[in-house]
Amino acid sequence: MTQRRRCGIVSGGSRGLGRAVVERLLADGHAVATFSRNSSDFTDRLRRELPEDVFLWEALDAADSDAVGSFVRRVCRAFGGVDVLVNNAGVLLEGLLTTTPLREVERMMRINLVSAIALAQACAKAMMRSGAGNIVNVSSVVSIRGVSGVAAYSASKAALDGLTRSLARELGRKGIRVNSVQPGYLDTELTASMTEQKLEQVVRRTPLGRLGTPADVAGLISFLLSDEARFITGQTITVDGGLTC
Ligand code: NAP
Repeated sequence: MTQRRRCGIVSGGSRGLGRAVVERLLADGHAVATFSRNSSDFTDRLRRELPEDVFLWEALDAADSDAVGSFVRRVCRAFGGVDVLVNNAGVLLEGLLTTTPLREVERMMRINLVSAIALAQACAKAMMRSGAGNIVNVSSVVSIRGVSGVAAYSASKAALDGLTRSLARELGRKGIRVNSVQPGYLDTELTASMTEQKLEQVVRRTPLGRLGTPADVAGLISFLLSDEARFITGQTITVDGGLTC
């Protein structure tokens, strides 16, 4: 009997860090299912070049947690199960909290936190059926360091780290590991709104002297998903060139 290819779900895989994680999982031999609101040159190319049982992309708004749950069920039917979840999709909400409309905070929380919980819930059910699985949540260094102007975003990321620790306890005996990665500042669209001056300040304060790249973080995620990391669960691992040391 031929073994089915391991399947990874990556939220927000159209660009930035999600794109690097999709590339890395494919290179590591996984089939990959991903979603974002809009397709990109990257997802269009993969859909042209790879068979449907190796790469799947759907247009989906992570703010809709019911849609996220049905996405996982469709992926399980198409790929025969799910082995890996990388909760990557996220939006940055910038501005002083006192002037930020609560409806914007609520939408960000649905994308950054509730959808990650919905994905973890749906994937954990599938992983429990096969007796193994691996979840990585993409947090941020702002979950452990105060930064003015991103209070609600920081709260969403600190909540993800809490999810990681408690879920690791719930799922460990089922053979499922759960970890968080905390990137520093990456050179992606998410940070495009930051001023040159602010980015230079970050680089000055970073011992390794540069911003992070998506590949820096995708490498850590690939390690956490690998058998090399088989005794690591419930941890939050910082990948920031030393910014927070
Ligand atoms: P990015 O370049 O803006 O990419 C975000 C990805 O998420 C895109 O694929 C985007 O596609 C998708 N996405 C956003 N909102 C969505 C929604 N409502 N529904 C479905 N998909 C959605 O951001 P990034 O820098 O790669 O960030 C990835 C993760 O790393 C995020 O969780 C972020 O918080 C975290 N992080 C980033 C940094 C940084 O400095 N960049 C630092 C620490 C942590 P669409 O827009 O088409 O939906």
